[in-house]
Amino acid sequence: MFYEKAKIEELIDGKIDWPSLHSMLSMPKDAERFRIYLEILQSRVTWEDKIVLPYSLHLYIVQKAKTKEWVIKCDCGHEFCAWNANWKLNANIRVRETPADMLEIYPKLMSPHPDWQVLREYYCPDCGTLLDVEAPTPWYPVIHDWIPDVEAFYKEWVNMEVPERSN
Ligand SMILES: [Zn+2]
Repeated sequence: MFYEKAKIEELIDGKIDWPSLHSMLSMPKDAERFRIYLEILQSRVTWEDKIVLPYSLHLYIVQKAKTKEWVIKCDCGHEFCAWNANWKLNANIRVRETPADMLEIYPKLMSPHPDWQVLREYYCPDCGTLLDVEAPTPWYPVIHDWIPDVEAFYKEWVNMEVPERSN
């Protein structure tokens, strides 16, 4: 099924009406929709590297224009790392690990005890956007959210040619 660009923009911006969203969710995903989705995302960033896959709300896997390397990039243009590395290790990290830290965001007596659970906030070093929060036990390693199987997604899900990759 073909969706017009305006509908997909409404979807991205969280403004889509329920009947359209329901029909979109129920139908098989199609290559045309993904192509338009990428086109819209690309039109909203100021850099030229090609978006290969949205990674999270403000992050993308992109193909660098000159080298064809794939990297994880913030929508402000900051480059974190190779596409399959853990971008969080290159972010600015704030760890909420005291009762006072917790009181800044939780009502009194409603927060986890920091001996058992901390909050790690990951910020972009350039634009300062809060990109992710995780709530692990204090000793737990930095969580690597996911490494997408981009090749399978392009070939088997949207039937598109996989963008060239040098790394
Ligand atoms: Zn940024």
